[in-house]
Amino acid sequence: MEQEEIGLKQDLKTLFEKQTVRSQQLRSEPWQNRKKLLEAFGKHIMQNRQRIAKAVNTDLGKSATESDISEVFPVITEVKDAVRNLSDWVRPQAIDAPLTYLGTTSEVQYEPKGTCLIIGPWNFPFNLTFGPLISCLAAGNTAILKPSELTPHTSAVIRDLAKEFFDEDMVAVVEGDSHVAGQLLKLPFAHIFFTGSTHVGKIVMHAAAEHLSAVTLELGGKSPTVIDSSANLADAAKRIAFGKFLNAGQTCVAPDYILIDKQVEREFIDLLKKQIFKLFGVNQIINTQAPDYGRIVNSRNFNRVDALVQDAIQLGAKVELNGNSDAGARFFHPVILSGVSPESKIMEEEIFGPVLPIIAYSNEKEILPIILARPKPLAFYIFSARERFQRELVTAVSAGGVCINDCVLQFTHPNLPFGGINASGFGKAHGRYGFLAFSNEKPVLKQKRGITMSSFLYPPFTNRVKQTINLMLRWL
Ligand code: NAD
Repeated sequence: MEQEEIGLKQDLKTLFEKQTVRSQQLRSEPWQNRKKLLEAFGKHIMQNRQRIAKAVNTDLGKSATESDISEVFPVITEVKDAVRNLSDWVRPQAIDAPLTYLGTTSEVQYEPKGTCLIIGPWNFPFNLTFGPLISCLAAGNTAILKPSELTPHTSAVIRDLAKEFFDEDMVAVVEGDSHVAGQLLKLPFAHIFFTGSTHVGKIVMHAAAEHLSAVTLELGGKSPTVIDSSANLADAAKRIAFGKFLNAGQTCVAPDYILIDKQVEREFIDLLKKQIFKLFGVNQIINTQAPDYGRIVNSRNFNRVDALVQDAIQLGAKVELNGNSDAGARFFHPVILSGVSPESKIMEEEIFGPVLPIIAYSNEKEILPIILARPKPLAFYIFSARERFQRELVTAVSAGGVCINDCVLQFTHPNLPFGGINASGFGKAHGRYGFLAFSNEKPVLKQKRGITMSSFLYPPFTNRVKQTINLMLRWL
């Protein structure tokens, strides 16, 4: 065992060193090479859609169409965006000189950070491992990927697709569990892009501190959803049914819980139930045969979500919707709970499953204390027709992102930055923001020859210098 451990450590160190040599070479290569590489890699992914769908289906029970929508499409969007815009992203930004810097010229260059580590989660295992890779490569880096061990078939496809396309000193996939991830984290990566739980995010940040590696942490949390009496309830029900029950609720930006005006609670619950069956059922039934409804990743998570439901019921929650779940098949029927106590466990931890707790309010003053008592969420959703109400909530609640009158779209929009805040993570992903995450914005200032403005401030600090500084403090 000890021998194995030493072997793993040495292999990873050798791989890291190879990538470090390559990333140094990449710095002087024209950016057009990256564009060609990304274009070709996009084609490679498109040619292998079926392999990806099969693996994702085996791991998570997602249909081929859902795999295309939620795994392949976002990665291809990243590829297209980078290919289309890379010439803009890499172009140095000229910076104006204020009077005191007269004669200088400055620009911000976007230099690659170097050798990067990308650690992926299991819930969108392909999307959230290869998506950041596109930004990483667009910025001119090399990468080691560590996909989640909980989705082994997708992890194997990620490994094979990378191996078929890249030299390992450019992109390498290291498979394994937390132990392997721990060994990787001992290496001095230039940037670590982690997607996963808040708990492991802290471990990653701790390890990164040892080498002062930069980090992007894409974490989770409880995303609140407020629905007031002015909202279009039919729209809200349809959109929430999709955002919450897609991937059996195992989506970081899924609406976690609902705060709704008591006056419209009943109507909304009835509409929501109808929509859930319409979207995911067959003949009004959702069971193991329903082709468009996903599975829970493993029995540990199945039992965890089940325990949250049982605890809420014990504390007085009413079951509005449930059905025959099947632990053996990791099939968890959609559940809606009303009258949920804010003290129950389901209101403490991220649910990450197909269970939607609803809390009704009689007075809008009850909304903020419930949201603000919890860590800053990854997503915040508001369904309302009242602009002022929307504005007040957006101002009052700090969140990774906000979506009004829909959900999840703030994540999929390619031109918006995506990320959390504090407990839900930090650093931004997607498109140009992803490119920036993997780049060092390096200022480069060029001075002219001879006398310069700053030389007027050199010592000895004569009266003339003092007068100059007084003038500058006053007028510049
Ligand atoms: P996780 O934190 O358990 O695992 C994520 C990755 O970290 C896996 O590759 C795993 O092997 C690795 N890991 C586990 N223990 C580790 C350790 N001690 N040291 C280093 N690495 C370790 O998360 P998960 O269960 O795969 O994913 C679910 C969580 O991810 C949820 O909280 C969800 O909200 C969050 N998430 C966030 C986003 C986002 O973009 N913000 C997207 C998807 C999922």
